[in-house]
Amino acid sequence: MGVKERIAYLRGLIDGSGFCADDPQAKSAWDSLLAICSDLADKVEMLEAGQAETEEYLEAIDCDLADLEDVLFGLDDDTYDGDIVEMICPECNEEIFFEEDFLYDSDVEIACPSCGAVVYATGDCAGKAHTNGASLEDIEDEEDDDM
Ligand SMILES: [Zn+2]
Repeated sequence: MGVKERIAYLRGLIDGSGFCADDPQAKSAWDSLLAICSDLADKVEMLEAGQAETEEYLEAIDCDLADLEDVLFGLDDDTYDGDIVEMICPECNEEIFFEEDFLYDSDVEIACPSCGAVVYATGDCAGKAHTNGASLEDIEDEEDDDM
């Protein structure tokens, strides 16, 4: 039972039982008390609704702020300014460009946009792929140092 239901229940008890029937002043005091309780319960309910709304709003602002940080600090995909790796497709000799960060992903596969052949893949195929510049051995050594 919520606070408002309990107040209504108490009021029903008092009204229905002839409570303080011989003492109008005491009955009036109880009525006032219950009215105050009822007002407080209404206010608490409003505050709770307002609080929930504020929390929702804060979460939305937090998300927007995170997006903004991504853009400002260049973490967003659209504003990538890291090194670009260049490869030649072994199937059709098409030049392929992709972001160097792809090389560090644990599970990635890069296909030639021209003929669709997979030109770089991590995981099972990692050893077979060759790239200009970045060495996979160097990257693995760095990870070992961290452990
Ligand atoms: Zn190709």
